[in-house]
Amino acid sequence: MRAHLLVLTLAACSRPPAPGGASPEPTPAAAPAPAGVDVLETSAGRVELHPVHHGTVRLSIGDKVVWVDPWSKADLSGPKADLVLVTDIHQDHFDEAAIAAVRKDDAIVVAPAVVAEKLAGAVVLANGESRDLGFVRVEAVPMYNLERGPEEGKLFHDKGRGNGYILTIGDRRVYFSGDTECTPEMKALRDIDVAFVCMNLPYTMPPAEAAECVAAFKPKVLYPYHYRDSNLDELDAGLAGSGVEVRRRDWY
Ligand code: ZN
Repeated sequence: MRAHLLVLTLAACSRPPAPGGASPEPTPAAAPAPAGVDVLETSAGRVELHPVHHGTVRLSIGDKVVWVDPWSKADLSGPKADLVLVTDIHQDHFDEAAIAAVRKDDAIVVAPAVVAEKLAGAVVLANGESRDLGFVRVEAVPMYNLERGPEEGKLFHDKGRGNGYILTIGDRRVYFSGDTECTPEMKALRDIDVAFVCMNLPYTMPPAEAAECVAAFKPKVLYPYHYRDSNLDELDAGLAGSGVEVRRRDWY
């Protein structure tokens, strides 16, 4: 399985090079990525994946920069955003000061309607809608609770309000779950190369449930994110033998 993954060129640069330095698909023209940065090779060039904090993620796609759910509690230093994706209304996802801090003046902000109402100029995507921005195609997908909520009859995240996102970059697809339980739509995802999946209670789902869901749609690589003090060993146990490579990173 390891060899299979390497052929897919989903190399983690934080890992030491293979003995002999052999790389299955060398990219001689590319400068080495900084230490600790994960790289996804795509038909459209190199993508760097930067886990930041909780639900905040930064990607570099060539010379374009994407921030997902920038939050003021995260370290927001780093290159400024050409594109900001906001998943939902809760403050760890929609933080106007953080968006202002990371965005370039001409950045595109993509958000669900509930966020765009409060954020002038945002591009609204509803679940199922997508937008081709040239360097990336952004598709909004459902994220919601099936059963968990603040009180009887209420959910933390209602279906249709927030967006998970699938980014298509060349021949690769990167998924951000947003805050969700294991929905049928998530289980039905296909052809996901890299998935960032939430797993914390009470708001989303426990790691064992996330593992069940991930085993259903089988991304090649999984980053647990938005997990706080959840026990990620339960995730590993649930995914043992699934073929999904779990990448734990330092989010907190
Ligand atoms: Zn959240």
